Amino acid sequence: MERMIPYTSEEERLAQRMGYEEIIKMNLHNHSTFSDGMFAPEAIIRKAISLGLNYVGITDHYLTRKVRSMDNYALERYIDAMTEFRDKYSRDIRVLAGVEIDASRERTNFDDMRYDLLNSLDYVLFEYVNDDLWEGMHLWELFDIVRKIEVPCGLAHNDISRNFREIDYDALLNVLEDNGIFVELSSSPRNSKFSRPYYRFAMDFFTRLAKTRVLVSVGTDTHTNIDEVGDISDAVAFVEEIGLENNLITRVL
Ligand SMILES: [Zn+2]
Repeated sequence: MERMIPYTSEEERLAQRMGYEEIIKMNLHNHSTFSDGMFAPEAIIRKAISLGLNYVGITDHYLTRKVRSMDNYALERYIDAMTEFRDKYSRDIRVLAGVEIDASRERTNFDDMRYDLLNSLDYVLFEYVNDDLWEGMHLWELFDIVRKIEVPCGLAHNDISRNFREIDYDALLNVLEDNGIFVELSSSPRNSKFSRPYYRFAMDFFTRLAKTRVLVSVGTDTHTNIDEVGDISDAVAFVEEIGLENNLITRVL
C-alpha cells in the first residue's frame, strides 16, 4: 500500500539517517479559526516558517459536538483555503491539510461524513481511539471507517500505554501496519501525564515500531498559544533516541 514505507535494511537505515533532519521538522497538528483554534491558518503557517519548520499541517475538528467544529459546508471552504495557502507558501514550507475526528460515536456523527472530501485532504487524525475514559471507539471498529479513507489515517495524541495496556504490542503494530495507520508523537503539555508526553510512557511500543513499517508524525495540538507551533523539540529528540527516522510520515507526504 502506498501509505507504507518500503522495507530498508539496517545498513540503508544508517546511511539515510544523516539526511533526516529536514523531514523531522514538522508540526502536523494545529487548530485554526476554522474550528476551536485562536489563530487563522495563515498565522500558523507564517509562524512555522519563521521557526524554520519544513512541514506544517492544519488539522481542524470535523463533525464533533464536543468543541467548535467544521460541518461539511465548512470543510469545503477549508479545503479551498488550504489549497490556496499550499500554493502561496510553497517556496517556504510544505503546507498540509488534515482534519481531526473524535472517535466517540456519541460526539461525532459518522453517518454525515463526506469521504470524498476527506479523500482530498493530505491525512486524517483520529483522537480518543480505544480510549475508554473518553468513550472513543475501539481500534477494531475504526478499521471500517479507515477503509473508506484513501489518505493516511493516524492516531492523534494517543496514550498508548493506558489505552492499549492489555494488548500485545507486536499484534497491535501488525494491525496498524496492515491498515496503514500512523501514530502521532504529541509533545504538547495537554497530551502529557506527570509532566511527560504520553509517548515517553510507551518506549517499548515505539522501540518495536521502529522495526516495522508503521509511520509516525509529530504534532503539538496547537489551539491558543502560537508558540506551540514550534514546540517539537522533545518529539524530535525522541525520534532520534528511538531511531524512528525511517518511520517518519513526511517520507510519503
Ligand atoms: Zn487536536
